Amino acid sequence: MSDILLETRNLETFYGPIMAISGISLVVREGSIVTVLGANGAGKTTLMKTISGAVDCKKGKVLFRGAEIQNLAPDVVAGFGIGHVPEGREVFPFMTVMENLRVGAWGRKDHDAVARDIEQVFAYFPDLSAKREGMAGFLSGGQQQMLAIGRAFMGRPALMILDEPSLGLSPLLTRTIFQIVRRINREQGVTVLLVEQNANAALQVADHGYVLELGRVAMEGPSSELIESEDIKEFYLGKAEAGVRGEKRWKKRKTWR
Ligand code: ATP
Repeated sequence: MSDILLETRNLETFYGPIMAISGISLVVREGSIVTVLGANGAGKTTLMKTISGAVDCKKGKVLFRGAEIQNLAPDVVAGFGIGHVPEGREVFPFMTVMENLRVGAWGRKDHDAVARDIEQVFAYFPDLSAKREGMAGFLSGGQQQMLAIGRAFMGRPALMILDEPSLGLSPLLTRTIFQIVRRINREQGVTVLLVEQNANAALQVADHGYVLELGRVAMEGPSSELIESEDIKEFYLGKAEAGVRGEKRWKKRKTWR
């Protein structure tokens, strides 16, 4: 049996006349963490929205465990076992932490397991445990990100899509959250698709990576190789001087494959 959980084939998505992604093919293997990297506007969020059904594709396929799921409604896609943590967290601000987590478990009938999973979320994110009866809107940005991940976990997804969880967080907090994401992946068997601009942090936890540029896959490979790539180092890994050179080189390159 194939160990491919999710696959996209030649996906094309438009906003009106604007082609946001053009021909993206990627593979996410069961049990892995795959990161999708790219600069602002590269098409990362559009790709994730296309996978989770928030926007429709014009061409191509999204296969989940071999079944075609492109252009299905988001709730139907979620029912396949795909939990999407969108960019900007989007917790319910006027609900408590506990209520947010219970919303994540909506539709589950295994009440004992739900109670255990809530405690598991608090074990992963002790900061949330202390605030379980507090309004989510009063949490810090980092805590809201933890809650958004915890809420997605409560749906017991086979695949968790995380869209830029590091946005606005300190490097230390980003590392902490990424370590928990890795633990959820390894300990709970949740496959993870991680969108990031923070290539360094993402490649530290991911098994495999794709780099998008202008709506296409510009580069892909095991994280251990990408992290050593001169182009990735120069463009993404925060070397100020090299970064300028890297950006010029990046722009000059016509094709990456
Ligand atoms: P960011 O890191 O800034 O979120 P991204 O890599 O996720 O960027 P997308 O948000 O997917 O990129 O955007 C891809 C392209 O689609 C960009 O050119 C963007 O301007 C365009 N785009 C995104 N959302 C819309 C929209 N709602 N309407 C029109 N164009 C859009």
